[in-house]
Amino acid sequence: MSRIYNFSAGPAVLPEEVLQHAREEMLDWNGSGMSVMEMSHRGKEFMSIAERAEADLRELMAIPANYKVLFLQGGASAQFAMVPLNLLRGKKGADYINTGMWSKKAIDEAKRFCAVNVAASSEATKFTSIPPQAEWKLDPSAAYVHYTPNETIGGVEFHWVPQIGDVPLVADLSSTMLSRPVDVTKFGVIYAGAQKNIGPAGLTVVIVRDDLIGGADAKTPVMFDYKTHADNGSMYNTPPTYGWYLAGLVFQHVKKQGGLKAMAAVNQRKAQKLYDAIDNSGFYKNPVEKSARSWMNVPFTLANADLDKTFLAEAAKANLKTLEGHRSVGGMRASIYNAMPEAGVDTLVDFMRDFARRNG
Ligand SMILES: *Cc1c(COP(=O)(O)O)cnc(C)c1O
Repeated sequence: MSRIYNFSAGPAVLPEEVLQHAREEMLDWNGSGMSVMEMSHRGKEFMSIAERAEADLRELMAIPANYKVLFLQGGASAQFAMVPLNLLRGKKGADYINTGMWSKKAIDEAKRFCAVNVAASSEATKFTSIPPQAEWKLDPSAAYVHYTPNETIGGVEFHWVPQIGDVPLVADLSSTMLSRPVDVTKFGVIYAGAQKNIGPAGLTVVIVRDDLIGGADAKTPVMFDYKTHADNGSMYNTPPTYGWYLAGLVFQHVKKQGGLKAMAAVNQRKAQKLYDAIDNSGFYKNPVEKSARSWMNVPFTLANADLDKTFLAEAAKANLKTLEGHRSVGGMRASIYNAMPEAGVDTLVDFMRDFARRNG
């Protein structure tokens, strides 16, 4: 077996130990004679898997008892609609912070349901910075404030949590959840598609404060109402059982690594190595303001874009794969989520130095 270093933005690399574990119990989970995929979601076997996953996530993120953890489908993209449908509660508008492509998608969807106030935007700097909170023009009557702590495409990340008083703060944590500790009590809703840092595609994790459940607009489809899922332990309909199980294995794995503080230390070190290699090269460039650089997604360009194809081909030969930048920005992008081993970043940095020496 030969595994590559996979720098894909998502679906992304999973911890090898988790995949091995899943392989070992693929045909027979814990003496049940069944694969997890074949189990009733309401049977005692799957219920124990589901409960353990939730308990482990609660422990990892220190999620207080007055928050529900929901294991849903539909991706972060479905949350772009579920958030306004559940949180407007009679109000006419919501505040959104626009820091890139995922923010924009959330804004476009919210516009179908309410008046969106873009309280701050970094579009003028081509999304290479985070607007300081002092410049935000929040609407005091907004139902909630939505932002994207890590922009997966632009590689821009908040390294601070906005202070917005009593208005619920909503965060699309898709590409940075579990990368570091977060103070859940500062948020009304946190959501994340699993395929970046949690598990396989098909599962969406939503953490929602109790008082924000039960106020959905009357026309809200039953599947889009947080109350439906909160009241039924995320089993109103068939949940994504295998994704839930694999996410649970990832939570166990992260706990074994020492939890989110330990993940943060490794993630910061990995990111620093890569940004240093870029900044000190005279050959590669990352356009993002230093204070807003993502620990998870690192876009970079080469001194000469004509070399892009050669770079990708030679990187692939060195087992470094999926480094092509997002189609909207070009260049390269290295996604270095929790599951990317530090050795993968070291190998990439060595390759980049060597490539620059030969082509610079
Ligand atoms: C990937 C991503 C999404 C979209 O997630 P889906 O699960 O494909 O809907 C939304 N927001 C962010 C920040 C992402 O990285």
